[in-house]
Amino acid sequence: MHPSLPNLPLLKHKVTQAGACLGLIAGMYASLCASAWAGPHEHGVVHMTIAIEGANVQLALRAPQESLLGYERAPREGSEKQQAAKLIEQMRSAESVIQWNAQAQCKSTSASVSAPGLQGKAEAGGHADIEAQYRFECGQAAQLRSAQVPLFELSRRISRVQVQLAGPQGQSQSTLRRNRREFQIGK
Ligand SMILES: [Zn+2]
Repeated sequence: MHPSLPNLPLLKHKVTQAGACLGLIAGMYASLCASAWAGPHEHGVVHMTIAIEGANVQLALRAPQESLLGYERAPREGSEKQQAAKLIEQMRSAESVIQWNAQAQCKSTSASVSAPGLQGKAEAGGHADIEAQYRFECGQAAQLRSAQVPLFELSRRISRVQVQLAGPQGQSQSTLRRNRREFQIGK
């Protein structure tokens, strides 16, 4: 990634292994990535980074495993394993994470979820994150106005979602809570 190549299509960039950011190019997106993921691992808080470029939308999220499942270790046999498998399955459906305003006609084109803590790979200090990346293609991207975040339904332990967005109208941030699950895009 080189600053002199500002027009490389977004989709050519891969999500980094560490999930550190969306793998976006230099300039404003680079600073967006850094700030979005520099936040502390804070139980109850989910970080969401969104980049809109033309018809393509990318979303990366990071959540403490504790805030989705109540523990940060591998699940025990039985109900914990079933619950964890169900959660991952739900997260693989982009619609359970975010719903764009219908006029924009955005369709989910890929989704991936990574949960190393469920394999017993906790981070230093015993904490573990669940990360997910999604891509969308919007038939009417110019109509993107708002989004709902039903992610809160996945766990009562989620108290806040921090959204950082970069799009044609610049960068914005939103703080969502259980009673305020929608954010606006652009002015
Ligand atoms: Zn933790």
